[in-house]
Amino acid sequence: MQAQINRREFVRALGLGAASFAAPGLVGLRRAGAAAARGGKPNFVVIFCDDLGYGDLGAYGHPTIRTPNLDRMVAEGQKWTNFYAAASVCTPSRAALLTGRLPIRSGMCSDKRRVLFPDSAGGLPDSEVTIAEALKAAGYATACVGKWHLGHLPQYLPTRHGFDSYLGIPYSNDMRPTPLMDGEKVIEEPAEQSTLTKRYTQRALAFIESNKNRPFFLYFAHTFPHVPLFASGDFKDRSLRGLYGDVVEELDWSVGRILGALRELGLAENTLVLFTSDNGPWLTQKLNGGSAGLLREGKGCTYEGGMREPFVAWWPGRIRAGQTVMDMGSTLDFLPTILSLAGAAVPTGRVLDGVDISPALLGRGPSGRSVMYYYRGAKLYAVRKGPYKVHFITKPAYGRNIKDTWHDPPELYHLGHDPSEKFNIAERRPEVIAEINRLVEQHRENLVPGKDQLAERIKRK
Ligand code: MG
Repeated sequence: MQAQINRREFVRALGLGAASFAAPGLVGLRRAGAAAARGGKPNFVVIFCDDLGYGDLGAYGHPTIRTPNLDRMVAEGQKWTNFYAAASVCTPSRAALLTGRLPIRSGMCSDKRRVLFPDSAGGLPDSEVTIAEALKAAGYATACVGKWHLGHLPQYLPTRHGFDSYLGIPYSNDMRPTPLMDGEKVIEEPAEQSTLTKRYTQRALAFIESNKNRPFFLYFAHTFPHVPLFASGDFKDRSLRGLYGDVVEELDWSVGRILGALRELGLAENTLVLFTSDNGPWLTQKLNGGSAGLLREGKGCTYEGGMREPFVAWWPGRIRAGQTVMDMGSTLDFLPTILSLAGAAVPTGRVLDGVDISPALLGRGPSGRSVMYYYRGAKLYAVRKGPYKVHFITKPAYGRNIKDTWHDPPELYHLGHDPSEKFNIAERRPEVIAEINRLVEQHRENLVPGKDQLAERIKRK
């Protein structure tokens, strides 16, 4: 109940904002008002790939995929090496990014059907407050371009969760039917996927151009390199890595266009751009899946390859160029970080699992994240604290019909010494396991039934 009241307050605030900006004949007023309203508020662009692996970019060591624009973004910004998606599959990962909360709190996770499907009746609950809603209430223009996957029925679409506009396929591009939606309307079915990255990019550029005089938030969630893979004629058959490389190289082109437009419009120094992916590579797709580099396993599991992602942050003049950050961070941290930098109100009446990592982005201190919880569905499989990671349960990557393996004692890895999780040191460090067990007890206490959806589910396991 508390959560709904808070959300209503946000919606009321954004309703007032929309009315004053949308009134006809007030364009001049809008521009003048926008300049004043900007008040030093930075713009935010989140570029979110689908199923891109830790090892899939030139700057992260891929030997044959060319990513000159992302490599330049890294050279001009920050490259993180211990950054995590909040889940190893699409739906929960996206819910966590937009709400700053573990998917178990929003109900956007399940042990049986791990993501939403075209026949799913549900979606991101109305009681959740997204980054878009919070920024909209603070005067931001907002747009969602690309994959949504938080409910395709009208009441769950991006336009009902704080985004002024939407263009994209509302779920994964391997699901049928495959509609391309503009706002809440289907404009093409099936979506012509070979030109999708291009069309998404055009929409993103148009949004940036038309909002250059007021603060904006662009959530650009690419459909690719999730299978089936498609590249446009300009990129097809160009990469040494084959079709997967063509697709990633086109995504890199798109990043270059976005950063180029920000520079050309004089917005670069007032815009934070964050680039990452929703989960690791889909290894069972073989040549059509990506690479987690030296990390173990991939999409769908709680080994590092399933959830550790490339993460690049770019903000010329604010983020010092050419840094590699080894602190931990997560997409869970986007909401508190972005709202803090915007000076916008953080949603109250709820547990937030994200922390404000702006001290690390701006070179003022550590990221503030020292623990990572690895959920698969509603079950806690693993926990990282500092360099140590405990696996209570393991299961190899997505697509293989293998049951959970429970570990007692749990497996323990030192991710600093052993990023590939090869050498179990549980017998040598029982005190580390005991400390992490205590942490898990505290964590479960804060998942109080009734306060957070699905919380009792974890208690019953
Ligand atoms: Mg994905």
